Amino acid sequence: MHIFAIANQKGGVGKTTTAVNLAAALAASGQRTLLVDLDPQGNATMGSGVDKRGLEKSVYQVLLGLASLFQARISSPSGKFDLLPANRDLAGAEVEMVDLERREMRLKEALAQHQEEYDFVLIDCPPSLSLLTLNGLCAAHGVVIPMQCEYYALEGLSDLVNTIKKVHSNLNRDLKIIGLLRVMFDTRATLGHQVSAELEQHFGDKVFKTIVPRNIRLAEAPSYGIPGVLFDKSAKGALAYQAFASEMIERVKTM
Ligand code: ATP
Ligand code: MG
Repeated sequence: MHIFAIANQKGGVGKTTTAVNLAAALAASGQRTLLVDLDPQGNATMGSGVDKRGLEKSVYQVLLGLASLFQARISSPSGKFDLLPANRDLAGAEVEMVDLERREMRLKEALAQHQEEYDFVLIDCPPSLSLLTLNGLCAAHGVVIPMQCEYYALEGLSDLVNTIKKVHSNLNRDLKIIGLLRVMFDTRATLGHQVSAELEQHFGDKVFKTIVPRNIRLAEAPSYGIPGVLFDKSAKGALAYQAFASEMIERVKTM
C-alpha cells in the first residue's frame, strides 16, 4: 500500500482536482484505491459524486476514534475507488483533537488496519499547514505537490518543503517529496514556460514529466459529481491525468 498526501498550503492550486482525477485514473487502471478527503470544504467528496450534506459517517469520526475506516468509507458512485468523505464537521476536529494522545497520528493509525486492501491511498489535504494536514503528512509515504507555474510559486514552496523536512525528522521518517506536478498549465504563456524550466532546474527528477494543462472540462466535471478523467475521457486534461496515473504506477515500482 502506497500512501500519498496531495498537499500545498496555497489555496486553489489544484490539489483536489489532482486527488480526485488521480484516484479515478488509478482505479480505472485496476489499482485498488482509497481517496481520503481531509478538507472540511468536502470538495473531493462532492467531486467523487457523494453529497457531503448527507453523510452518516465521515473522516471526522475516524480521526476522533468514534468510527472505524471500515464504517465510514463508501464507494464512489462515479469512480471505482473508495472514499473516506468529509464535510464541515471536520472543521471542529482540529480543536477537538488537541487533547487526544498522538493527535497527529490518528489517520495513520486508522489506515494501518487496511494495509492489504489498497494499492494506493490518496489524501486530499486542506490549504493550510494545520493539524489536519499534519495527519496527512504523518500517514503518508510521500507528498505530491500540485502547483501552478506562476511568479510566486517557488516562494510559497519553501514553507511546504520546510514543513515536510520537519515532519520527516521528527514524526515520519518515511516521508519524502514524490514530486511536483505542474497543473493548470497555460501553454501560451511565456512565464509558465520560464517557471517550469526553473522548477526542473531546482528540483530535477522530482518534477513529474506529466504536465496538466488548463482545461475547462476538468473544472466542469465536479458540478456533475464525476471525476474529469471519466466525464470527458478524451479531453486534454483527462488525458493528462491518465498519463499522470501511469507515471505514478511506474514511480512506485522504484520505491
Ligand atoms: P483548495 O486549496 O481550496 O482545496 P485546491 O488546491 O484543491 O483548492 P482545486 O479545487 O482542485 O484546488 O482547483 C481550484 C479551481 O481550479 C477549481 O475550480 C478547479 O475546478 C479548477 N481547476 C483545477 N485544475 C484545473 C485545470 N487543470 N484546468 C482548469 N481548471 C482547473
Ligand atoms: Mg481542495
